[in-house]
Formats: sequence, structure tokens, C-alpha cells
Amino acid sequence: MIKTAEAKSDGIIETPQEKRERFLMEFEKPFKCEKCNERFKKKKYLREHKSQIHSY
Ligand SMILES: [Zn+2]
Repeated sequence: MIKTAEAKSDGIIETPQEKRERFLMEFEKPFKCEKCNERFKKKKYLREHKSQIHSY
């Protein structure tokens, strides 16, 4: 039996390099704004971003 190429549930196949870049990004900027998906290095930056961009 031949198994077809493994694809993730979302259909995106990552190359090892993309995987590494994504990992580094999540590692360096773990704080994500849930409203616009922007990432921040520090929780403080995220809080400032929220109060400036999504303030109302
Ligand atoms: Zn935002």
C-alpha cells in the first residue's frame, strides 16, 4: 500500500526551512494580538499596541 504525501489538516505543507522560521518567529515574538494577528516580543508591547490600535 502506498501512502500519499502527508498533508496537514489545513493543506499547507511546510518545508523544514519554513518550519524553522515559524518556530523562531513564535519563539521570539510569543505575544500575538488576537485582533490583527500582529506579534510582539514583549507582553508590554502587545498591551501598548492594543491600547493604541484597538483602543475604543
Ligand atoms: Zn492588534
